[in-house]
Amino acid sequence: MIRFTGTLLICVMMTAAAAAQDYKALLQETHAKFKNLEGGANANYIPYLADVPSNLFGIAIVTADGKVYEVGDTKYEFGIESISKAFVLCKAMMEAGPDSIEHAIGVNATGMPFNSVIAIELEGYSPVSPVVNAGAMATNSMVKGPNKDAQWQTVLNYLSDLAGRPLQLINELYKSEAATNQHNRAIAMLLDAYGHMWADPMDACDSYTKQCSVGVTAKDLAVMAGTLANGGINPITKKRLLDEKYVPKVLSVMTMEGLYQTSGTWLYHVGLPGKSGVGGGVIAVAPGKMAIAAFAPPLDPVGNSVKAMAAIEHISEKLNLNLLASQAKK
Ligand code: GLN
Repeated sequence: MIRFTGTLLICVMMTAAAAAQDYKALLQETHAKFKNLEGGANANYIPYLADVPSNLFGIAIVTADGKVYEVGDTKYEFGIESISKAFVLCKAMMEAGPDSIEHAIGVNATGMPFNSVIAIELEGYSPVSPVVNAGAMATNSMVKGPNKDAQWQTVLNYLSDLAGRPLQLINELYKSEAATNQHNRAIAMLLDAYGHMWADPMDACDSYTKQCSVGVTAKDLAVMAGTLANGGINPITKKRLLDEKYVPKVLSVMTMEGLYQTSGTWLYHVGLPGKSGVGGGVIAVAPGKMAIAAFAPPLDPVGNSVKAMAAIEHISEKLNLNLLASQAKK
């Protein structure tokens, strides 16, 4: 019996070691395959982002049981930008409940650019989705705080809990965004006029601008998204951050609109919920299995990182992660 258990243990350890080697090799192969991929350009409507070195490229995987694999520029801190929208949605859902998100903001796709004003008007004056700018500011405003600073600290603490380390604002990025976010301020005022703000609209816009300016690495993003792959528990710190039954709700929102107008194209190719940001990051979640994060600044015209999407598509394909795939019964 003891000998049998010992043999079993050795087999399990060998399989785990083989899997680790496979993931490492896959990451290296993926990095080499796409590191010279042409196409796209840094976002430049936020001046800071235009100056981030365009050739940075990092990829990280965090498995639901907390193993971390990384390759390339995974220590570089860049702006989380719109990827924060999915995570602040988690916090708002914990505070306000999934019904408020569904009925007061919406859980559908706008199919329009992330900063669209027309989308608000067309859809009966509602933000439609928590992961476009309008819906994200409304979502942020659902996170409560006794005052503006405390509310922001609550948001930052939550993002830090997801990353498993204290995250910080990239101050230069925040200044750059705050000086150029007139369009978002206009959206916030419009939403307030339509009754879709749960805080002072300029405070919500500022807290949203800050959440977008938080610095993360590709590895941080993989850990953060790992919580969504692991039923709401951070796979590294083991802290519960999202109710298990809310996880599919957040992932459904990401599936609908996580990559903006090309969310359908993404799903068609990758088959996983994802979220992108104009800082060059993209995350994807394979429920119960792993999260993948990639970072490379050049974006396609919609605002999604060209290399990061290609890398994640390749990994999803190699690891058979597509959620929509099935095998015929014989
Ligand atoms: N902070 C950016 C904005 O509000 C985020 C946009 C994005 O990443 N798509 O425009």
